[in-house]
Amino acid sequence: MYKYVFIDLDDTLWDFHANAKSSLHEIYEQKNLGQFFDSFEQYFNLYAKRNIELWEEYGKGTISKAELSLERFQHPLIQVGVDNAPLAKQIGDEYLALLPSRTMLVPYAMELLEYLAPKYPLTIVSNGFVEVQYKKLNSCNIGHYFAHVVLSEAAQALKPDKRIFEYALQLNNATASETIMIGDSYEADIVGAQNARIDQIYFNPNLKSNDTFKATFKVKGLAEIFDIL
Ligand SMILES: [Mg+2]
Repeated sequence: MYKYVFIDLDDTLWDFHANAKSSLHEIYEQKNLGQFFDSFEQYFNLYAKRNIELWEEYGKGTISKAELSLERFQHPLIQVGVDNAPLAKQIGDEYLALLPSRTMLVPYAMELLEYLAPKYPLTIVSNGFVEVQYKKLNSCNIGHYFAHVVLSEAAQALKPDKRIFEYALQLNNATASETIMIGDSYEADIVGAQNARIDQIYFNPNLKSNDTFKATFKVKGLAEIFDIL
């Protein structure tokens, strides 16, 4: 019944968490940040917590991309009493340069793309930055699986805004009822697809059997999608 498949990139296909952590670890060593922090884990936890909050603010439109990019690296430094915006800026620049070259994928991502690409036109629907997302696709050599790459900056709307999904439907010349969205973020991917009346596969490795999330399908692993599509 489905003819088109939309897929989120970060933490659905590309293992954002693992790739981000390994990039920051390299920068942490390079910049000798151990002089300020007890451990890399301390640094990374401070960063990760604030980063999630800042992405939420960016999604709501209350902060700019530039503010997000700087503040997430300034925050851990300020927490340990280091007020050094130029250092935060340097870390941010190096992080954005290094991160997209990382190639760790979510388990079964490659197998899923191999399976889906001959059957459906696939479209990435992502809130990530243009200059970063294309590099990731190239580094992992998965760009050729996709008919379209729809990023929020081009669509001028961020998930869960239905306009980014409607933009992707238009590009495919598809209707909502013949399309399904796969994503790991309930708020962005699942609620967003619902806003555009598109069916959803909620990918959540930590899914509990008694969860109350509403989605067309729910999976704990990407391999379960072989049985759905
Ligand atoms: Mg995601």
